[in-house]
Amino acid sequence: MYDDNNIFAKIIRSEIPCDKVYEDDDVLFFYDINPAAKIHVLGIPKIKCSNFADFIEQTNEQTIKKFFNKVLDVVKMLGLKESGYRLITNSGFNGGQEVPHYHVHIIGGEPLGRKIN
Ligand code: AMP
Repeated sequence: MYDDNNIFAKIIRSEIPCDKVYEDDDVLFFYDINPAAKIHVLGIPKIKCSNFADFIEQTNEQTIKKFFNKVLDVVKMLGLKESGYRLITNSGFNGGQEVPHYHVHIIGGEPLGRKIN
């Protein structure tokens, strides 16, 4: 079940500030507070989804397509499309997911090697 008090839900409701990259009615992108590389942005849909499986199973294809189109827009906005980047979604205990609101990490700005973040 979705936890309305998770930190990203509070950021969406503007109860906690964030360093915003892009926002519209459906999505929010902001800089990670603990960056794993020179550029580290988090992207979240504003709907109440705890993880990747919920996002895919509980939304429609248009919502999913719109979200990932915005991810690509932000990748371009950050100047990462040509230099390269990594998109990560952690899920569940073994995946190391800390915040139970579905999100993608957009990481780049330097060579990332093979390390897994
Ligand atoms: P995950 O482990 O995939 O759930 O990632 C959660 C990410 O959220 C981590 O990279 C944290 O550094 C980041 N994070 C936690 N709190 C905040 C916050 N208030 N603002 C920005 N990023 C945050």
